[in-house]
Amino acid sequence: MAELLKGKPVADALDDATKKRAEALKEKGITPTLAILRVGERPDDLSYERGATKRCEKDGVAVVNKVLPDDCSQEDLMEAIKKLNEDDSVHGILMFRPLPKSLDEKAACDAILPKKDVDGITKGSMAYIYSGMGEGFAPCTSQAVMEILGHYGIDPKGKKATVVGRSLVIGKPISMLLMNANATVTVCHSKTIDMLKVTQNADIVIAALGRAEMLGAEYFTKGQTVIDVGINYSQEKQKLVGDVKSDEAENVVSNLTPVPGGVGSVTTAVLVSHVVEAAEKEIR
Ligand code: NAP
Repeated sequence: MAELLKGKPVADALDDATKKRAEALKEKGITPTLAILRVGERPDDLSYERGATKRCEKDGVAVVNKVLPDDCSQEDLMEAIKKLNEDDSVHGILMFRPLPKSLDEKAACDAILPKKDVDGITKGSMAYIYSGMGEGFAPCTSQAVMEILGHYGIDPKGKKATVVGRSLVIGKPISMLLMNANATVTVCHSKTIDMLKVTQNADIVIAALGRAEMLGAEYFTKGQTVIDVGINYSQEKQKLVGDVKSDEAENVVSNLTPVPGGVGSVTTAVLVSHVVEAAEKEIR
């Protein structure tokens, strides 16, 4: 049976480290602060906001909330971002997406200063991950994958890693982070032929395709580490499932992240650690 790589111990360890760093900043008179910018009252946003706020409180990071009505104008939104960019007491900005259709989301994302882009949504952050130059942060989910590997002592260096999925928010940044960690990376997508051979040949498989339980036992081989990024609601099972058929894969591979309780449970801990990192960078 595979060892389950649970997210909670990873998040707890990250929280402990973040809390210590936040305390060290406070001794220097700096309170690391996250601004949460929300447009409208989407239940998903409110739920994430509650989780992030709780995690910030636990780690000693302050939160300021900026809420705009869902019929706000582009100018109102850009003005709110500008104010948060200019506010020296704010170190990180989390803006919920998707924004209402009436707003230009791309323009809003790119208006956020990369050095405050703790959620990794700006072009600047993308350039930072790709080039290692400039300012910015990796998207929290892709960083959460790396935190899980690190916590459980799985070093990507020299290993063959296959990432299934090439989206800008998940697949591509994960591929870059794995390559930066010296893995030999192959990326699969919906046009990949014989994907089975590519996943079977890897030491580490990252499943980020958004297809409920698509990857069954046949995609895997003994000894592999499988990180399941997928979060899908299965009507049939009436519960959340990943992209991997876990009850099959766990009989084949060595390590597997559960869904729920895997990657998803590490993302807010990463977000808060990014806020502290942003504050630390300000005084360097
Ligand atoms: P996405 O934008 O829909 O991208 C899916 C990617 O998978 C695309 O690159 C697509 O290929 C590829 N793909 C789709 N079907 C495939 C198939 N049959 N074979 C091979 N590749 C296939 O999704 P996403 O935003 O990256 O999200 C991926 C998953 O992560 C979703 O389940 C999402 O819910 C989950 N997620 C998890 C977290 C977390 O915290 N754990 C956070 C955000 C999202 P093409 O490029 O060719 O279309």
